[in-house]
Amino acid sequence: MKVTDHIKKSKGKTLFSFEIIPPKKGKNIQELYDNIDPLMEFKPPFIDVTTSREEYVYIEKDGLLDRKITRMRPGTVGICAAIKHKYDVDTVPHVLCGGFTKEETEYLLVDCHYLGLDNVMALRGDAMSHQKYFQPTKGGHSYASDLVEQIKNLNTGKFLHEVMEVDTKPNFCIGVAGYPEKHIEAPSLKTDLKRLKEKVDAGADYIVTQMFFNNADYFAFVDKVKEIGIDVPIIPGIKPIATKQHLQLLPQVFKIDLPEELISEVEKCKNNAEVRQVGVEWCIEQSKELLKAGAPVLHYYSMGKSDNIKKIAEAIF
Ligand code: FAD
Repeated sequence: MKVTDHIKKSKGKTLFSFEIIPPKKGKNIQELYDNIDPLMEFKPPFIDVTTSREEYVYIEKDGLLDRKITRMRPGTVGICAAIKHKYDVDTVPHVLCGGFTKEETEYLLVDCHYLGLDNVMALRGDAMSHQKYFQPTKGGHSYASDLVEQIKNLNTGKFLHEVMEVDTKPNFCIGVAGYPEKHIEAPSLKTDLKRLKEKVDAGADYIVTQMFFNNADYFAFVDKVKEIGIDVPIIPGIKPIATKQHLQLLPQVFKIDLPEELISEVEKCKNNAEVRQVGVEWCIEQSKELLKAGAPVLHYYSMGKSDNIKKIAEAIF
């Protein structure tokens, strides 16, 4: 079922969902199941599965370093299918512009359709680890809005190089990313919102936000998004802080601000177990307020570990 239909069906009741990361190549999928199992009692209508960019690895050969390209966490679509069938839950693969030609994206979407996946999250992706800025893949898309357009076309039977009379058209529900504190590369929040509108005008059905730690940022964002005529569900993405290192890492990687009160609570912690607890408590308070404000879904970034998300869900759902 589509994410937007789950939201409609809930009739205003806030839903619980979360995002997982595929295991590293060679690791067992069981570890993923062990982290999903404890969260299923909270009845997520959908689970997101991220996609990671390809990266270069250097392999020593005859005294020289040979550069190879690899994807360390492959298998997003396969994992979506495995989880969907194991738990009877909708899954949302993240589809990236970066690292894929338009043709490869078309094949991936056809696979998603065959596997009965009704939703996809359309994202540009970040730069590869050795790059300073995002560079579009040769033959790939430059922006998420172009990817949304490709998916929307496929929904009408329009393939890249041919319009076909198809037996069953896919009917993907399309999610896109939104940034309450602005995307790192956008010159201003206003410009970024204009870009978000382009994604919705191209056919996006719902928005999932970047993580934020101050709900006021989300509420202000929702107001501004509505002001410019966007009328799709805006799902808050939230993450419990889990290590002291996050104080530097999260602002640096995601260009987000951390509230002073949270910083000082984390700084008082003697170890990461204490930080994890602070993260849980902060996230519970955030969740309570978002729930009260009628957020359609609370979407948690689990980063592959569910113990903290379970504690939050127990307090909220
Ligand atoms: P876009 O919407 O394409 O925007 C990228 C930048 O370009 C923005 O600054 C925007 O303002 C600007 N822009 C857009 N259109 C134009 C235009 N026509 N002309 C000029 N500028 C333009 N990354 C992953 O690698 N894997 C994941 O699984 C993943 N999941 C995510 C899930 C969520 C909910 C979020 C919020 C992010 C996720 N990301 C993921 C990160 C995301 O890929 C990065 O934030 C990326 O840098 C931007 O992606 P986007 O889809 O928002 O890009």
